[in-house]
Amino acid sequence: MTFAVNVSFEVYPPRSQENLPQLHESIRALDTASPDFISVTFGAGGSSTRDSLEVLTFIKDNTSAQPLAHLTCVGTTRQEASELISSFVEQGITEFLALRGDLPDGEAKHRGELHHAIDLVNLMKSDLNHSQAIDRIAVAAFPNGHPESQSLDEDIETLLAKQNAGATLAITQLFFYAEEYAGFVDKASKAGVTIPILPGLMPITSPGRLARVLELTGEEEPHQLSQQLRSTDNPEEWKFLGIEWCARMIRELVDARAPGIHLYAFNQHKTVLSALEQAGVR
Ligand code: FAD
Repeated sequence: MTFAVNVSFEVYPPRSQENLPQLHESIRALDTASPDFISVTFGAGGSSTRDSLEVLTFIKDNTSAQPLAHLTCVGTTRQEASELISSFVEQGITEFLALRGDLPDGEAKHRGELHHAIDLVNLMKSDLNHSQAIDRIAVAAFPNGHPESQSLDEDIETLLAKQNAGATLAITQLFFYAEEYAGFVDKASKAGVTIPILPGLMPITSPGRLARVLELTGEEEPHQLSQQLRSTDNPEEWKFLGIEWCARMIRELVDARAPGIHLYAFNQHKTVLSALEQAGVR
């Protein structure tokens, strides 16, 4: 049996121009799943403005998906952030994921005028040049809590504040058990969050990738998945296990009435499309 579910994907601008054709091929393949949007990451501090725009423009011109631009604000002035938003809007990009971002170690967080994602949401809503032009403002959510938060309640308050500032969608950090998402959504809804919260998932297809995402996200190690991956050193079996885990989570999240599935594609289409197919999602 197949289910019609809203899907979306995240890709990142490749480090080298040589890898652009391969990313273009992956984006065309991802488009076959009729995603609602394909989002493109952004380097905090503005390191990849041009590269992000290049990928977003490709999505706009070559797929039926909406291009959704991640933007970070940490370390920037109001004026710089406003100009940054304008540079995207001028290229026809009207959907954004408003983020704080993380400055590289050693760079002071208090530098700049915008310190939190909500400051960027407020700027998008208040700046007359942008408020009419922007069609969607998404924000991040953390089912297991942001590493800097004192409690999950703080994360829910932060999400509620971002909703009240004008965000209309939340996309979650990676997590590894559907119950973590369901528990967070339940708490958020009781606190007054009404915007859709899209679960963000990734097929973890090697122990190395698991270690890398745990380092990047600060999430706790999922012992069961970790043990499964460490039970073999065959890359084909890793792939099988990672896709199977992700497909099961997709089914459980659809059963839990998630408003869609957001897949971190890591610029590779095959594993995420296999996970959707195995989950029976079209
Ligand atoms: P915030 O909402 O600012 O929250 C960060 C912390 O500050 C939380 O503990 C929160 O509770 C607290 N807080 C929030 N508002 C206030 C306030 N007003 N006063 C006091 N405390 C407050 N990073 C990138 O660099 N580029 C990307 O493209 C990117 N894409 C991402 C996509 C998704 C879906 C997710 C989940 C994360 C992404 N990140 C990206 C990482 C993100 O930038 C970091 O997780 C960052 O640490 C937090 O971002 P945020 O937008 O949630 O920040």
